[in-house]
Amino acid sequence: MPVEKDGNSKTPKLEHFGSSLVTLFLFLILFHFFVAPAFRTRTNEVLYSQFLKEVKDGKVGRALVGQDQIQYILKSDLPKTQTTQADSSPPPKAYVTRPIAGDADLPKLLAEKNVEFGAPPPDNSGVFTTLLGWIVPPLIFLGIWGWMLNRAQAGAGTALTVGKSKARIYSEGNTGVTFADVAGIDEAEEELQEIVEFLKNSDKYTRVGAKIPKGVLLVGAPGTGKTLLAKAVAGEAGVPFFSISGSEFIELFVGVGAARVRDMFEQAKKQAPCIVFIDELDALGKSRGGAGNLIGGNDEREQTLNQLLTEMDGFEANTGVIILAATNRPEVLDPALRRPGRFDRQVVVDRPDKLGREAILKVHIESVKLAADVDLGTVAARTPGFAGADLANLVNEAALLAARQNREAVTMADFNEAIERVIAGLEKKSRVLNEVEKKTVAYHEAGHAIVGALMPGAGKVQKISIVPRGVGALGYTLQLPEEDRFLMAEDEIRGRITTLLAGRSAEEIVLGKVSTGASDDIQKATDLAERTITLYGMSKKLGPIALEKVQQQFLDGFSNPRRSVSPKVTEEIDGEVKQLLDGSHRIALNILESNRTLLEDMTQQLLQKEILEGEQLRRYLEQVRSPQALAVWLNTGELSDVLIRESCDRAN
Ligand code: ADP
Ligand code: ZN
Repeated sequence: MPVEKDGNSKTPKLEHFGSSLVTLFLFLILFHFFVAPAFRTRTNEVLYSQFLKEVKDGKVGRALVGQDQIQYILKSDLPKTQTTQADSSPPPKAYVTRPIAGDADLPKLLAEKNVEFGAPPPDNSGVFTTLLGWIVPPLIFLGIWGWMLNRAQAGAGTALTVGKSKARIYSEGNTGVTFADVAGIDEAEEELQEIVEFLKNSDKYTRVGAKIPKGVLLVGAPGTGKTLLAKAVAGEAGVPFFSISGSEFIELFVGVGAARVRDMFEQAKKQAPCIVFIDELDALGKSRGGAGNLIGGNDEREQTLNQLLTEMDGFEANTGVIILAATNRPEVLDPALRRPGRFDRQVVVDRPDKLGREAILKVHIESVKLAADVDLGTVAARTPGFAGADLANLVNEAALLAARQNREAVTMADFNEAIERVIAGLEKKSRVLNEVEKKTVAYHEAGHAIVGALMPGAGKVQKISIVPRGVGALGYTLQLPEEDRFLMAEDEIRGRITTLLAGRSAEEIVLGKVSTGASDDIQKATDLAERTITLYGMSKKLGPIALEKVQQQFLDGFSNPRRSVSPKVTEEIDGEVKQLLDGSHRIALNILESNRTLLEDMTQQLLQKEILEGEQLRRYLEQVRSPQALAVWLNTGELSDVLIRESCDRAN
């Protein structure tokens, strides 16, 4: 567990100050309301009429008549002799009443009835109350202030202590992580081996006058193991590991972040040799002059960044402090961060390939009991695009499934179910579809499967299901590539778009009307079609022109802004995108019409069983017929109306 280190111990002990104030304040309140009144009124209150009656009956012995209160003692309660004043007999019981304003006859009546009477002594408790009135409000204010300050100190926000900052550096001491815990990213590992070497025996390098890089930037998609790698470097070298996230530097007040950077370097230098790991460097080092965010603003970020640059320039290359920083958005980083002497090395941490995934799985199954049928190679093959963190999660999901069913070991079926969970989300048995919806979903998915089976480079259709899963998926068709792919050819893109639109096409053909269920498919198809034209330059009409500004290469689902183009070109782009989508749609319809009987058979099976997979699915898909127009479409992007009509005629 990370140990949180206090930034410095010279800050005043506000906890004590604050809490003693609160205690005093509480005591005063209690005193005011409970104890003090008890001193003032030990007496029983009675109605004025009763008092008058008792006076008239001659029962009252002594009375102190005040403006708004009369205290009196009954004759029967008066001490018998005047001389026993000093003895220990209890004080006589006094009664209190509130006079009716301006009862001028009362003194006369009292004198008549032989009551000893006079005015009460001046009220001392009034002084006390007044004093309280002056002291308590400021105390309340001070107390609340102290409490807030206290909380600010204890929590993450040090915003109130501007100046002497408390950089929250997590020193994790020795991480205990080694390169053995990292797998599948061998190139990155090798690059960092040198850093370990230096930390271990720096003389070797300094003797020949070599300078070791001060900063290394780890670049890669989320979950590929950047943090893990940094920890492993520290672990292998046996040096302390400090970690802080770029977003933690940025505070509401300008100057706080810069102070934290200063503090951090001070601490790190004291513990050298060591590794300082800055996660999410992009939060801190975004290119200056870009659009700012609201909180923290540009000023704060710029100052913090400047401080970081200054500090990195300030310390000698061979002090033994090495800064590793991670980001998945290297393109937004300020160019100044990449200059020599700063983060001049960049190590790309890639998503693992099939062998890499197998190796990562091996690391993570170490504490898991596997059944004999588990083949990690197959699992790796079925998980293209998974990063290390996804695979770690996958192993855990599989183990949880086994544990839930009280099994001793994790089976291949658990892994398959876990893969589906990660890809498509949890099964939602509670989401019950009505008959019409179920039919729509079944035709839709069968359509995807039939068209998908014909497309080049798309891999095998593994499973069709109409059991709802995850957020919004009412059914799904699982199609997994047989190998990792790094390029996509033109025909494969067309095939992919066609497959995406096939679900909707099946609904159209069979049911004659469409549903909202295809919105996600349409979204994806349109995205891909647009990218084909603007990013991959695959339009014959527009040619290889970049029409998008690439800003993201490591985050999925991030769309780039268009380059500034003339309205005419924009129109042409739209035309090309539409043509691609229209063509895909027509060819999908064509394929499904050519396989109408098969579509019907598969849908009925699906409605009965909810899931189609394995041998049965394979036999169905073997029967899929490929219309002649498809080959032309895939190869040239042209639609042959003649061929389409022909295949339709044959089908009818
Ligand atoms: P990043 O910092 O790149 O977002 P992390 O290093 O935080 O990713 O990875 C999260 C977790 O995923 C790690 O703690 C580890 O369990 C697992 N993991 C990621 N990459 C790998 C890898 N290459 N080898 C083994 N485990 C990995
Ligand atoms: Zn669909």
